[in-house]
Amino acid sequence: NTSTDDFVIDNEVIQSIFKIRQDFAHKGTYGKSIIVGGSYGKIGAVVLATKSALRTGSGLTFSLAPNCGYEILQTSVPEAMFIKGGENNIRQIKEQENSVYGIGPGLGTGKDTEKALLEFLKDNHSPLILDADALNIISENKDYVKLIPKKSIITPHPKEFERLFGKTEDSFERLDLAKTKAKELEIYIVLKDHHTQIITSEGKVFYNITGNSGLAKGGSGDILTGIITSLLAQKYSEEEAAVLGVWLHGKAADFAAEKFSKEAMQPTDVINELGNVFLYLN
Ligand code: AMP
Ligand code: MG
Repeated sequence: NTSTDDFVIDNEVIQSIFKIRQDFAHKGTYGKSIIVGGSYGKIGAVVLATKSALRTGSGLTFSLAPNCGYEILQTSVPEAMFIKGGENNIRQIKEQENSVYGIGPGLGTGKDTEKALLEFLKDNHSPLILDADALNIISENKDYVKLIPKKSIITPHPKEFERLFGKTEDSFERLDLAKTKAKELEIYIVLKDHHTQIITSEGKVFYNITGNSGLAKGGSGDILTGIITSLLAQKYSEEEAAVLGVWLHGKAADFAAEKFSKEAMQPTDVINELGNVFLYLN
């Protein structure tokens, strides 16, 4: 049952959202993106999300990760600044002004990290992007869900959605549950799938038609987190950041598949194709 509140994300929708970069911009014009995540053996997730935030145009970009990620991040992403977490996990996340946080890639669900995330959620009230292990931590307790700041964007894949909100029979029932939860919690839900759906806090649904099965590989979701964080930092609205972000991610994946095949393309290739997607839009 489609309604007037259902939209397919076509080129027209994207052109109405996309803003051309200003000639007189400086790095402060395009916001601060802070990617929070990583744990021993999963620093790569933060690398991917941070690179994606940079390739999407973020003015200043930071990675907040455990100390074990310091050399890896500074070497593989020199454009980004490093903010120290704990020794092997995240022990502290302090709110910084005019920053947008994308939390979750490779984060892990250790006790120290859980404590740090919950404390941050209690203090912080600006919208966040929450993904992966941030969502898994929030799934641990029904009351944690209420700590998600209003207007936040969450990006669960089907399993993470189920852990958060419970089992559904099929994708129709899942969409209905997502609409109920998005309204109740006043958040945006990016329901990641072959055709990702974005459900707004008002119950609008956007259907994405870019992307392909070359994305069915570890690391693909981390890229989306970096892209959406970057767009929100650049002052796109929550709805715009989610819709444009999901479309960009899929389109870059389609370009990567044309060059390398769905089999061989890697998440890093998707990040590197973002430039061609912006050229296509400009
Ligand atoms: P994650 O599971 O968190 O790594 O996220 C995977 C990302 O890749 C999401 O954005 C999915 O929408 C996308 N993806 C995974 N498999 C497919 C597929 N078969 N077709 C299109 N997109 C996919
Ligand atoms: Mg993921």
